[in-house]
Amino acid sequence: MRRENANLANLLPHFENVVLFFEEPSDAFGGDLWPIVVVESDGSYRLLDVLAICEEGVTETNLHVTTDPLSKYLDYTRSYYPPPSATCRNCEAFTACGGGYLAHRFDGKSYDNPSFYCEVLLGMYRHIRRHLEGTVDAATWQLGQKAAAEGTELLAAY
Ligand code: SF4
Repeated sequence: MRRENANLANLLPHFENVVLFFEEPSDAFGGDLWPIVVVESDGSYRLLDVLAICEEGVTETNLHVTTDPLSKYLDYTRSYYPPPSATCRNCEAFTACGGGYLAHRFDGKSYDNPSFYCEVLLGMYRHIRRHLEGTVDAATWQLGQKAAAEGTELLAAY
């Protein structure tokens, strides 16, 4: 299996979960990033390390585990991570895709964009949704639809 196909295969179970609106532990599909705590080996609090591929020095917070309480770090992360773009918030796949991986939204100036892989994510969403509609039992499907309508997540139950 080619490397990119292997990566896609690894993502599929996660995406099935989020299409069904069950809880998704991966940060690959948007969602709330602020509760993720990153501590470097020197004790400094950092933002998501993947952001380092977008902008130099952007992960630095000037906070440290020996001098700053966790709540201060979380206040910082709460105000830092940009929300998904308006295009994403109005997209049929938003509850599953969440705008995609944060680093993939960066265009060199801002994160206010759909994912660079939007076309793939939308195609994958539609494909998985069609597949699940034909295979998941009606009660589970309705539970997921209800959770989506209410904007809540469910624990994985299948
Ligand atoms: S499929 Fe594209 S437009 Fe829709 S939420 Fe994902 S990245 Fe945004």
